[in-house]
Amino acid sequence: MAPSMDRQGFWGKPTSTLDWCEENYVVSFYIAEFWNTVSNLIMILPPIYGALQTLRNGLEVRYVYSFLGLAAVGIGSWCFHMTLKYEMQLLDELPMIYSCCVFVYCIYECFKQENAINYLPISLLLLFSISVSLVYLQWKEPIFHQVMYGALVACLVLRCVFIVTWVYPWLRPLCYVSLGFFLLGFLLWNIDNLLCGSLRASRQTLPPGVGVVTQFHAWWHILTGLGSYLHILLSLQIRSTYLKHRPEIKFVCGVWPTLHIGSAKTG
Ligand SMILES: [Zn+2]
Repeated sequence: MAPSMDRQGFWGKPTSTLDWCEENYVVSFYIAEFWNTVSNLIMILPPIYGALQTLRNGLEVRYVYSFLGLAAVGIGSWCFHMTLKYEMQLLDELPMIYSCCVFVYCIYECFKQENAINYLPISLLLLFSISVSLVYLQWKEPIFHQVMYGALVACLVLRCVFIVTWVYPWLRPLCYVSLGFFLLGFLLWNIDNLLCGSLRASRQTLPPGVGVVTQFHAWWHILTGLGSYLHILLSLQIRSTYLKHRPEIKFVCGVWPTLHIGSAKTG
């Protein structure tokens, strides 16, 4: 990192335990990391639409929570990258854990009766969320958060791969596209952390329009936002197929995938 390149801005000195590779207060005096902030829109707007669509379809409320959880991560991440304040960092990182717990519940309970609530996994996931929060509030080590988040994502991946391998093989493309986006995002997240010096140097020489493409943490937001959204869609499709709701993926404006439910149940 090269702190000498960071300017002072509206929110004052960063208090977060992490400061990403994007140079601070370069684009705007009011936004510490401009591209890392605005790239969160993809994690905010589509999931809100998804939550409304889920309500309209009359599907289980756990999926409304899934979409809103993802939107909460996007909003928290927006606030964190805009301010680089420690409290805002928690608003980004803790909802990542909570929303992933909702995803885990949905995907592990997808072959149960409609609207059935299973209190054992809920209690375990709640216990996990509370423990991670308490430890992380005391031990401000970002790697702890990253490992806990990674463990939840691994649980999701294993379960999804199992389902599309053995139960609903026609959902393989959706599963692997979602996973692919996530892994590509993770690769760019690492490059952004490991090669920050070179990336910053390259942005000094590249024209601004091209330099912005090297904001790999912003790409991580876009790719994991897409990957997480598609994961919820996959989970919803598995669930509504199991419940014989005739789910169908439709593309808004020909590009953005959303899930629609047929008017009558089949079978
Ligand atoms: Zn971020």
